[in-house]
Amino acid sequence: MLDTLLIVLAGVLVVFGLLILLLILRTRAFSGKTPAIPQVELPSIDAERAAEHLANTIRCETLSNPDVAKINLAAFDQLHQTLETDFPLLHRHLRKEVYEGHNLIYHWEGSEPEMAPILFMAHQDVVPADPSSLDRWTHPPFSGAIVDGVVWGRGTLDCKSQLVGVMEAVENLLQQDYQPERTIILAFGQDEEIGGLRGQKLMAEHFQQQGIQFAAVIDEGGAILTGQIPGVAAPVALVGNCEKGYLSLQIKAVGSGGHSSMPPKVTQIGRLARGIVRLETNPVPAEMERIIPMFKGMGDKAPFLYRMAFANLWLFKGFLMKKIEASPKMSAIIRTTTAPTIINGGVKDNVLPSEVSAVVNFRLASGDSIASVIEYVKFLLRDLDLEVSVAGDHPGEASPVSSMKSPAFHRLDTCIKQVFGDVAVAPFIMLGATDARYYAGLSENVYRFAPLHMQEGQMDSVHNFNEHITVEQFAGMVQFFIHLIQSWSRASWVD
Ligand SMILES: [Zn+2]
Repeated sequence: MLDTLLIVLAGVLVVFGLLILLLILRTRAFSGKTPAIPQVELPSIDAERAAEHLANTIRCETLSNPDVAKINLAAFDQLHQTLETDFPLLHRHLRKEVYEGHNLIYHWEGSEPEMAPILFMAHQDVVPADPSSLDRWTHPPFSGAIVDGVVWGRGTLDCKSQLVGVMEAVENLLQQDYQPERTIILAFGQDEEIGGLRGQKLMAEHFQQQGIQFAAVIDEGGAILTGQIPGVAAPVALVGNCEKGYLSLQIKAVGSGGHSSMPPKVTQIGRLARGIVRLETNPVPAEMERIIPMFKGMGDKAPFLYRMAFANLWLFKGFLMKKIEASPKMSAIIRTTTAPTIINGGVKDNVLPSEVSAVVNFRLASGDSIASVIEYVKFLLRDLDLEVSVAGDHPGEASPVSSMKSPAFHRLDTCIKQVFGDVAVAPFIMLGATDARYYAGLSENVYRFAPLHMQEGQMDSVHNFNEHITVEQFAGMVQFFIHLIQSWSRASWVD
């Protein structure tokens, strides 16, 4: 009897041991070992001077405005003049094109002009500083004050640092008589903050007409962040390799109104409310696969528990789903989100309205389309007799996903690690929109990344008060762009 029990126990232990072994082997195969990156000497730059150049652009109040007639064009002229003054070599060596208003294109012809060129993007416009929070700025939003190693003002992060950082890098390389092999193009839009329709959209069409296909594209986007991904302590460089689509739907209940003293069983408001609740409680189904590349990219910097869970979804899918859904930020990565944003109806407390409506905003994850989301919404609301129509002017599909296995990404990944040290590099889905979406058809390698280690509080200052960047952070951006230009502009991408 005892023998049998021992044999059974041993059998259970063996099975259990094999299971643990399988989990560990799969976990190791999931993330692998992060290969060592060769150290390089970083280019030396004059950080104070670079910061001055950035501050000079902050003082140009290049505000975007949905009412195009109200845009202060003189501020954009002033910005262009400032750039000419501060980057004399760049303006002497690169061909400048002012396109459709105040968009800026610079061409730096490579020694191998038949090779696919590289594109560096940024935008010139900034959002206004909210008048109600003006007194909360430590230094006024357009002062470009440099105090104790910090540059203050609107645009220091979003995104004049990206624009000036690239120009500073080009100027620095020209000082060293650097000659790129591939042609380098800089394209700086005038209206990203209001949709880019008169900016990068037109420039992308302009490049398309010339038959240009870019070997790689970089625009603003993710940054190096610490503590933003639940459970991950290491700094992670989040490189946006796709962005979500955009769709707003109007949901309308139309029927009989009347006097509130004799209400029907279901009113128009009740019907609409039911519809909204149904949409909220039945979000578009999530797909765990959408977040896997991010954790895979983090390699052994991701916590063991997560790596094991992702490597063994057959066992841990439920656990992971619970973890991810607990955080709205993470949950938005794995699904098309549903957000009721406007509700309208009723005028008087004793009158039943005959028509009420709501707008629900969806951010489309790749794999879902405008058509499939509309179909899903109509399916959910099928028995409620609600009208569903597209609201707003700019529905857009999710962008294609750029490869994280391409030589272009490999070079980007290496540059990030060489300049910023021991950070994990991971792809992620941009939850908001950037101008880079207009280049989906112009390059297979479109990446969205601001090369700086964003500190706590800094991220919240974007589109808010007290936007600032440290002189050191900005110097790092310039070094990164010098490094990336040299890496990407080589004709051969085989090391
Ligand atoms: Zn921006």
